[in-house]
Amino acid sequence: MSEREKEYQPLRPQPGPIAEIFAPVAGFGVTLSSMFKPTVTEQYPRKKVQPQRRYHGRHQLNRYADGLEKCIGCELCAWACPADAIYVEGASNADLPENAGREVRADDSGGAHMSPGERYGRVYQINYLRCIFCGLCIEACPTRALTMTNDYELAGNTRSGMIYEKQDLLAPLAEGMLAAPHPMVEGTTDTDYYSGDVLGPTTAQVDWVREHRPEDETLEAAQAAASGQAPAPTLRKHELRPDEGPGAAERSAGAAAVGSVREDEGSTTGARATSEPGSTSEAQLTGAPARTEVTA
Ligand code: SF4
Repeated sequence: MSEREKEYQPLRPQPGPIAEIFAPVAGFGVTLSSMFKPTVTEQYPRKKVQPQRRYHGRHQLNRYADGLEKCIGCELCAWACPADAIYVEGASNADLPENAGREVRADDSGGAHMSPGERYGRVYQINYLRCIFCGLCIEACPTRALTMTNDYELAGNTRSGMIYEKQDLLAPLAEGMLAAPHPMVEGTTDTDYYSGDVLGPTTAQVDWVREHRPEDETLEAAQAAASGQAPAPTLRKHELRPDEGPGAAERSAGAAAVGSVREDEGSTTGARATSEPGSTSEAQLTGAPARTEVTA
């Protein structure tokens, strides 16, 4: 073996003389073979594409089966967000107008609640001009209130319109759920909710709402679910409805079909909440943007 051959030993097998002749046009083989394959052009927006189940789309604030909100306003999602896209203000359930002159505690199932326990998320905003859909917020959430849907249509005409408010993000009430505020299921604590032990509204809750809000549209279905005449509310999983369209109304309707509840939603994986979830001081809120301020 010569000195030159010792220096360079190609690892790839060398092409034969025929392959060397056709090498300059070999790349056209890919083009030619593709000409006879089916077209893969997506017909979006006429036909929407269902992304993978774990696709990170628009966020959703989930509810328990009796209609109470899962968010307790702890702000952990806001603190976990690397893009500072989330703004939360918690409030006490005791301050709801329905509870005037009444003390509401975490282990107290009486009185009006927006969410189980002492606190609820009064203001919740996500600035989608900042959000990078990393999912750290949903990992930080102690109650599995925050999950991400498959909804990828997040375009808008104005910058302020890209700041989604709580009503834009809140999961719609499923059939049989009772609109909040209302008392917790009698005899339960917030831990029972986190553990997935609440499976639907009860007659006592329905009676309370009938007394305070007789015109409430959810009463009839909740009454049927509470009395066993209808199945308990079911939490829906990922599914993108083809007739969804852009806009706030469509977003709201689409949330019902998209549903971000994971398969383990409501299981004990979410039972990590502390007894004092709203302990973040007001001073810590001051660094967050104002409700309608666009800071992207
Ligand atoms: S409960 Fe979850 S969604 Fe609500 S403020 Fe805390 S981390 Fe955010």
